Amino acid sequence: MALSMDLVNLSPKEFIAFLKKEEIKRFFFVYDPENKNLISSHEQLQPVAEYIQSDKRDFAEHEGLFFQLGTRYDILQGAFIHRTCRGQGAGGVRFWEYTTMADFLQDGLRLSKGMTHKNALAGLWWGGGKGIIIANPGIDKHDPKIREVIFKAYGQFITSIKGCYITAEDVGASVEDMANIFSQTRFITCIPHTVGGSGNPSGWTAKGVIAGMEAALQYSGGKTLKDKIVVVQGMGHVGEPLIGYLFEKEAVKVIACDTDGEVVNSVRKKYQNNPLLARTAAPGDNSILKETCDILAPCATGAILNPETIPDIKAKIICGAANNQLQDSDRDDRLLYERNIIYVPDFLTNRMGIVNCANEQYGYVDEDPFIQRHLSHDWTHSVYQTTLQVLKGSHKDKIPPGRMALQIADQLSYEMHPIFGHRGRQIIDSLVAGNWHLYG
Ligand code: NAD
Repeated sequence: MALSMDLVNLSPKEFIAFLKKEEIKRFFFVYDPENKNLISSHEQLQPVAEYIQSDKRDFAEHEGLFFQLGTRYDILQGAFIHRTCRGQGAGGVRFWEYTTMADFLQDGLRLSKGMTHKNALAGLWWGGGKGIIIANPGIDKHDPKIREVIFKAYGQFITSIKGCYITAEDVGASVEDMANIFSQTRFITCIPHTVGGSGNPSGWTAKGVIAGMEAALQYSGGKTLKDKIVVVQGMGHVGEPLIGYLFEKEAVKVIACDTDGEVVNSVRKKYQNNPLLARTAAPGDNSILKETCDILAPCATGAILNPETIPDIKAKIICGAANNQLQDSDRDDRLLYERNIIYVPDFLTNRMGIVNCANEQYGYVDEDPFIQRHLSHDWTHSVYQTTLQVLKGSHKDKIPPGRMALQIADQLSYEMHPIFGHRGRQIIDSLVAGNWHLYG
């Protein structure tokens, strides 16, 4: 264990130096379900495998983790594949800086497990996965030429792992970066419109949030959005259309804020004939969460629901798009539950981002039924029906809704894809058998 702590406590830069010294360009960690052991491609890295497996919260028997050093820059590229019963691991690639290798590994495990749950709960025939490229602080991240090299290299890496992970856009990456990845691999979604991609999903995401709100209101006594007061934190790509949909549903007042004054002005102008109270908030100012209202919709940043903010929340329902709204998913889910505040889990309501792009290869239909059914009130896996299922289950089993949603999602995640069940695992096994780590 001492050695594993030594390695994972290294900064990514120091770890890359270690890999170079050991002449390792590629490495993997693959789970052996029979012996319940995570196996490393290299003996020297087995302590890292032990560290990963010791993450009791997020390791959750990840099927495989693959890594490669960038060829031009000192950059570590990774693919975390959690569970692939429903289909290959699908989730975005993050371009991010990390202080230590432990931070990087924990983030990757947490995010890919999260994608398993989000995809399964949405009834998508995809498993869970996540990509991370470590943004080495020594590199100019804003230089388009450097980004082109980095993201093309990532595309080559994705091709090399033969489709056990399907990548997409995530924090720190842009649609141009996706175009660069797409030039090197077919295992990607969220590509630009001009080459057959599905485009910006934010309007759909806002509609998903509305469906979650309507289900929560229905659950709490057959109410509707008419005459409700709604607070929206963040008026960006999702928050702005959400405000419009709330007025369409005859909300009596929307109180909203954004840290960007220009955004506030433009949204205020757009909805000038509606009962919108919009204000500019200083960065880190969460006072809007204390407003008296029926529904609170966090649509800005994560971790805003925590022991500091929860006691002052007056809303009876929380339902928004922001990722990871709970600072600590177990603790804060329970805190809200104990205060009788209905929390609609974020990974349930904000699914439309992945729903919109996950099946790009199947083509497009106007008023696409495969998208629309997520927003209907009758399809079993719709946002509406799933929210009702989660809230009713939470009440029945006396557990917080976040936990209930995870239980349902976990169960669904073991269902086999009707044709390609567990293909991701088969691909991983073939990479191991073919000594993937010795090439590249
Ligand atoms: P965005 O960047 O377009 O908008 C976020 C807005 O929040 C920005 O205008 C920003 O200025 C503002 N903001 C940041 N911190 C704030 C604060 N403390 N108080 C008030 N305003 C603040 O992002 P988006 O695409 O609208 O996404 C919003 C959230 O929803 C993010 O957490 C995102 O990860 C999540 N999400 C978005 C989608 C999608 O389809 N866009 C899908 C799933 C999840």
